[in-house]
Order: sequence, then C-alpha cells, then structure tokens
Amino acid sequence: MFETTIAGSLPKPEWLAEPEKLWAPWRLDGDALERGKRDASLVWLKEQEAAGIDIVSNGEQFREHFVHGFLKHVDGIDWNRMTTMGIRDNRYDAEVPTVTGPVSRQRPVHSEEVEFCRHYTSRRMKFTLPGPMTICDTIADDHYGRRADMAMAFAALLNEEARELEALGVDVIQFDEPAFNVFMDDVRDWGIDALQRAREGLTCTTAVHICYGYGIQQNLDWKQTLGDEWRQYEAIFPALNASTIDQVSLECANSHVPMSLVGLLADKQVLVGAIDVTRNDIETPEQVAAVIEDACRYVAPEQVTACTNCGLAPMPKAVAAGKLWALAAGAALARERL
Ligand code: ZN
Repeated sequence: MFETTIAGSLPKPEWLAEPEKLWAPWRLDGDALERGKRDASLVWLKEQEAAGIDIVSNGEQFREHFVHGFLKHVDGIDWNRMTTMGIRDNRYDAEVPTVTGPVSRQRPVHSEEVEFCRHYTSRRMKFTLPGPMTICDTIADDHYGRRADMAMAFAALLNEEARELEALGVDVIQFDEPAFNVFMDDVRDWGIDALQRAREGLTCTTAVHICYGYGIQQNLDWKQTLGDEWRQYEAIFPALNASTIDQVSLECANSHVPMSLVGLLADKQVLVGAIDVTRNDIETPEQVAAVIEDACRYVAPEQVTACTNCGLAPMPKAVAAGKLWALAAGAALARERL
C-alpha cells in the first residue's frame, strides 16, 4: 500500500546539460554524450533506490524533450519544416516539425536505454512515452488532415515501441497526456481511443499522466486563468475510468484540483501527485502524508500510489533528490498511521 513512483523527468546533471532549464541543449556530443546519458541514468536509478522509491525510472536522462525525443526516430516528419505553433490551446508557442507523409518508426527508439537500466536495477521499472494526443498537439500536420487520424497513426507506432519495451522488462509503461486536460471534448471523441490503441496487447501495467505542467512561467500564468477550482479532470475521468488503462497519474499537491475528483477513478490505480514541482522548498513527510490521506477519503487506500505532480526536470538536482526522499518518507508515514 502507498507504493511510490515518480511522474517522469528528473534534472540532468550539470555536466550533461545546462541545469535548471527545461529542454536544455546537451553539453556533450557523440560517444561522450551517449556515455553521459548512461551515467546520469545510473545516478538517478541509485538515488531513487536509496530514497526508497518502489517503481523507478531513468528520469528521461536520454531525451531533451519528452515528445520530440520519440519523434526524432519517426519517418514522415520533416525537421527542416519547423513551424511556430501555439500548443496546448495557445498556452505557449513552440517550434515544431511538420508531418509530411505517413509516419513509421525507423527502428526501436528506447530499447538500448531500457536494456541498460534493466541491467542496473532490480526494482520495478517505469518508462514514459508521449501520448498520441499530446504528440498531435506538438507537431504540425501537412498530411493527415484530421488530428484524430494522425493520433491513430502515432498510436500504432507507440504500440510497437511499448511492446518491445515490455519484452525488455519494463513493468509500467506510462503515456504522458498533458493535452488531455486542455481538449476535453477531443479526449472523449478520440483521445482515449488513441490511448487504448497505444496500449493494445500489453500485459504490463499501463498508466496515463495528466498534469498541469512544469513550473514554467507560461503554465503558472495559465493556472491563474483557471479559477479557484480546477475541474478539467471531471470532464475526462469517467471515460478514463471505463478505459483499458490501469493507472491515472494526476496533480494534487498545492493544486486547485478538488481532491473529490479522484473518486471518479473508482476502478483505477490512482497516482496521487503529492510533490509540488513548481516550488523548490522540499515537502515534509507530514505534508506528503496529508495529501495521500486526503485522497483516501475518496478512493480505497489500496488504490493509491504516491507520486509527484509532474516531472522534476527544471529543478536543482539537490532539490529533486530531496523531494524523492520526502515522497518515500511521507508514504511510509501515511502507511504507518493507517
Ligand atoms: Zn506532467
């Protein structure tokens, strides 16, 4: 009960990429870069083990961007046709490549890093992939015409990738769908269909992560417009609860999301975000336990996994490490009190 895991990214060491910056360019290249990514993953696997995190990940040390890291290895995308696109319903502008033909995977994208990590940890391991809807919201389309069609095409590629990662010993495959709490009608119309296509045939645990984003200014500004109660989850959780996805990762700590909304996930494992990713002060175990206990007012304790609100990538490394320890200590405290 109250096992622990993280939503996704962890900071890169300063020798690998510029610290405290999201999507920072690499500081190494060639073989040195590949060795650096491995060393950074090893550090974080062991940091998580030492802190007592139950389901560990490599903290996305192998990729610069959580969506483009996958897309870089997909055919049918023109990286010379970059477009400035207002993504997440124009919350911020991003330079995105353009889909110009049918998409297909050139080769396995993440197999090598997963083999490496599997070799170095005996804990259960999570791997994160971008979700189909979020991919479609992070790329320009000059081929498919309909986002729903493009999402299904990407979902098929994600499924190929996920099946290979499962075979390599990944225990949890998580699809990141921050676009889900922006385009709620599309989620019901085709977003969940695409997500289910991506997880088709997998026997490992599958999760979807839906958050309010990193602590970057554009997200903080957006949150200011959402009012006192953030009810986006309410529009999509009933459909997600009926889906084939096993786990839902959501933001709870220091959030305006009413905790009662987790009650809409009665049939799912709920990854309760008990660590704030927008502040550098490290939570006390007491604060973490309080969030977990609050969630338990609406779902059974067996359904609760303690998690972070989102990725920790833009934070100072020591802060992120401290938050891992706080997460594990808080979950242990909640377990003890229960
Ligand atoms: Zn997130």
